[in-house]
Amino acid sequence: MTDKGWKFTGNERKYLDDVLKSGFGASESGTMNERLENLFADIHNKKFAITANSGTSTLHMALYSFGVGPGDEVLIPSLTVGMCGFAVWQSGATPIFVDVLPDTFLMDPKDLKKKISKNSKAVMPVHMYGNVCDMESIMEIANENNLYVVEDSAECFLGLDNKSRIAGTIGHVGSWSFEGSKHVTTSEGGIVLTDDEEIAIKMRQFGGVGFKNITAQSGKVRISRDNFQDPNWERHNIFAYNYRMPELCAAVGLAQCERLEKFVELRVTMAQQYMEIITDSELFSPQKTQEGFKNTYWTFAAKFLGDKFNIEWQEFRKKYIEFGGDGIYAAHQLVYNEPCFKNYYESGNTPVAEDLQKRLMLFTTNQKDESERMIQINALEKTLKFFK
Ligand SMILES: *Cc1c(COP(=O)(O)O)cnc(C)c1O
Repeated sequence: MTDKGWKFTGNERKYLDDVLKSGFGASESGTMNERLENLFADIHNKKFAITANSGTSTLHMALYSFGVGPGDEVLIPSLTVGMCGFAVWQSGATPIFVDVLPDTFLMDPKDLKKKISKNSKAVMPVHMYGNVCDMESIMEIANENNLYVVEDSAECFLGLDNKSRIAGTIGHVGSWSFEGSKHVTTSEGGIVLTDDEEIAIKMRQFGGVGFKNITAQSGKVRISRDNFQDPNWERHNIFAYNYRMPELCAAVGLAQCERLEKFVELRVTMAQQYMEIITDSELFSPQKTQEGFKNTYWTFAAKFLGDKFNIEWQEFRKKYIEFGGDGIYAAHQLVYNEPCFKNYYESGNTPVAEDLQKRLMLFTTNQKDESERMIQINALEKTLKFFK
């Protein structure tokens, strides 16, 4: 039997037990949400961290905190997951689709500049597949045009740019997902970081059902019970959502984040091994990591060039599985090509992403150890040899 629980052999069970023992209350070291927020903020050297029930909720919280609403435009790459578009839809704004660069597969700053209008309010660079965007150029353009920036780092934990800045710490807000497939997971969950206290308060209130006593800080807000045990006590100044992370999830997240570096390095190791054997193949052009950047390889992404040799995408995938590989994922549809977006918003003009989306092959990097990695490597070697 394969061991599906290998990722949870740190303090996960201990912390879950602590939560139950505390009756979902706080221990001496605070609630699990508070401890996870403090740890994540410390790792990234940021002032405020706010947990949430998903990495889509966190994007919505960020857009709300920027004041994004109906009539505004939010610039997102077309080559990402639908959830980026959903967060924009949830905010009531309109997504405007930016093309990606053909080598890094990430938001193209030149196309971003072209697509800015008088209605633009925010930009959402996405560190796709673990590769870090050109934040230097994106921030410069954002600053020139008074745009807020939320970095979607759901697929990128501890990625670095060429100034050694951690992905997600550069824009006004950084957003991560702890969904089951991500580098570290709480089964479902997300977190945001910011240094801006106003933004932090707005995000925490918006995701915390709008209780007026909520502040930017983690942890319980103590108000005198003589105040709230009173029929005249008012609670809500704003309309809001309940996006809070359950304590049980935060307990797992705390234990996972204690070992964050280890989980990142496992993925990077797998990716390096794919890279070694794919780099000379004429069938692939792997995602390029810019000089001085650190890619954290949520997946190993490569552009498949099989059409030059009359090899179909599915043909390659099927052989890979036949040779023992665990499967190859495809890029999601471009956001504007998903039926719900097609019916509702104008299409985008992103020719580079159009071409890439059809070709991309995404290899898994969530192997437990060297023996699991070798199964993928052997399968890929055999498949490449087969089609040679
Ligand atoms: C996973 C993911 C999200 C959404 O996260 P959920 O926690 O599943 O809501 C957003 N953006 C990207 C790029 C993702 O990969």
